[in-house]
Order: sequence, then structure tokens, then C-alpha cells
Amino acid sequence: MSELAFIDWLRARTPAAASVLLGPGDDAAIVAPTGGPLVVTTDMLLEGSCFVLAEAGAAAVGRKAMNVNLSDCAAMAARPLYALVAVGLPRSADRRLAEGLFAGLQAAAHAEGCAIIGGDTNTWAGPLTIAVTLIGQATGRGPVRRSGAQVGDHLLVTGPVGGSIQGHHLTFTPRVQVALALHAQADLHALIDISDGLAADVWHLCTESGVGAELVAERIPLTPAALASTDGRSPLEHGLRDGEDFELILAVSPTDAERLVRTQPLAGLTLTDIGTIVPTGLWLLTTAGRQPLAPHGYEHRFGTDSQRGAG
Ligand SMILES: [Mg+2]
Repeated sequence: MSELAFIDWLRARTPAAASVLLGPGDDAAIVAPTGGPLVVTTDMLLEGSCFVLAEAGAAAVGRKAMNVNLSDCAAMAARPLYALVAVGLPRSADRRLAEGLFAGLQAAAHAEGCAIIGGDTNTWAGPLTIAVTLIGQATGRGPVRRSGAQVGDHLLVTGPVGGSIQGHHLTFTPRVQVALALHAQADLHALIDISDGLAADVWHLCTESGVGAELVAERIPLTPAALASTDGRSPLEHGLRDGEDFELILAVSPTDAERLVRTQPLAGLTLTDIGTIVPTGLWLLTTAGRQPLAPHGYEHRFGTDSQRGAG
């Protein structure tokens, strides 16, 4: 799809949003948001590393590219407003690929009330690349960072983890509405979305907060995909390491944790208390006692698997 065709296509599908004064088509978009601070994030997907185009299909790849950014916006408890999309199309790509891709991007953005206000497409000799930049806005309670967890806090997770490579990494719902609802109902001390894996992302939160965490093995909710694993790694290993679950991990006071778990305020989702914040270290409590938990995820390289350190 040529640059101009893309802009026309996008223009025809960009709904009017009150704070978007000028959408795609000029040298830059013009926005005039009112209200609180903006959060800005970007995430890039590379064919072969983050997805296999032939298996996933263009629309699913577009949805994932938007949803991983929406998930980061959710992880700040912010409302998504605008997205910008930069795409490198393989020279061999036909119009159907570009249209499928943008249909997926658009559907995911619309689902969360986010407007695609601009972008750029280029063709090149390499594989498909998509970078989305997302701009969101904090609510009146402000954005929630990774850095506010306190010793004694409880860690809650918004859904089961593990085995996302079986399909969830393409079809997940970013927890935008969930984050906003939780932020309105509880004092969220710290928040992060699970992209690198439960153990790795709990550790990211701990590192930013200057604390440690103790997870209780038997409480960690596992997906059917993790429970059905037949690759020699235990379901728990899948849950702790796999990544791309895109559930949220929140640190809240013991009182808020007890109330949230008891009242279960999220329709269709179960909040689970998986552990506590401790002064230092990352630990796993099992029936055999407390043991150190390595803070790394498990990296799928679509063919060759390898482990990676927490970054
Ligand atoms: Mg994140």
C-alpha cells in the first residue's frame, strides 16, 4: 500500500474524537487534550521474533501490536487517547497484508476508545516491523508506577498465567478497563503488566520499589495451556516464566488485598493473592519451604528456546 493510499485508508477510518483537532493527512496531527498528565509508551513487534506472520495472519499481528501498547498504558492505570503507527512492510507484501494489519490495529484501538492519529509506512527488503506509540492520560488519581510497593503489601494478579505461546499472546484483552476500575476502588501502590513472565515482572516491580517479594507456589493461577504442558517443564514453571500473559500484577495494602479478593469486583475475572512484599530477594514458598526464585523469564524464539536474564 502506498503512503498516500494508507493515509486515505486511515483517514476514512479515523473517527472524530473531541480532542483530535487534526488527524492523519498533514505533516503532523494536532491534539488538544484537557485534564491530567499524559503517559507515553512505545513498543515494536518484529516478524520472526515476536510473531510468525504466516501462522498468525495480518489482522492478529495488528491487534497484538496495538494491544501490547494498550497493556503498558493499562499498567500505568491511564486511559488510552491516541496512537501513532509506524510500519515497515516487506517489499513482497500485497495490499491485503497492509489492510489486514491496519484493520487489526484499528479494531484494538477502537475497543479501548483510542484514536489512531497518524503514522508512517515504508517498504523494504526486510520482514514486517510495526512500532506503535501510544499516548494516554492519567485519571484524577494520577498514574500508578512500579515503584510504590511497600514491605507487607500483598501482590494480586488479574488472571491465570503461562502457556501464552499457544495463542493467548495474539488474542489477549489488554487490561485497560480493569486497571481503571481497580484504580478507582483501591489505593494501588504499584502496578505492572506481565510481558516478560510473572517472576521477571514481579522482580521488575520489586527492583523499582527497592523491595523483595515472596510468591506462594500453590496460589499462582495457571491457564489450561500451562496445565496441559507436555514439554517437560512443569505447569508452575510455565506460569512463572512464559510471559506475554498481559495480566496485571498489583501491590496493595493487606486490607485492600483482603477486600478485593473477598468482593471480586471485576466482572469475568478473578483476582488472586499470590504473595507478599518482603524487604529483599525473590522467593518461592512451596510445601518444601522457602527457596530463592530466579528472576528471569523464558524466551520463545519460535523454534529455538532460550532463557534470558531479567532486564
Ligand atoms: Mg509493561
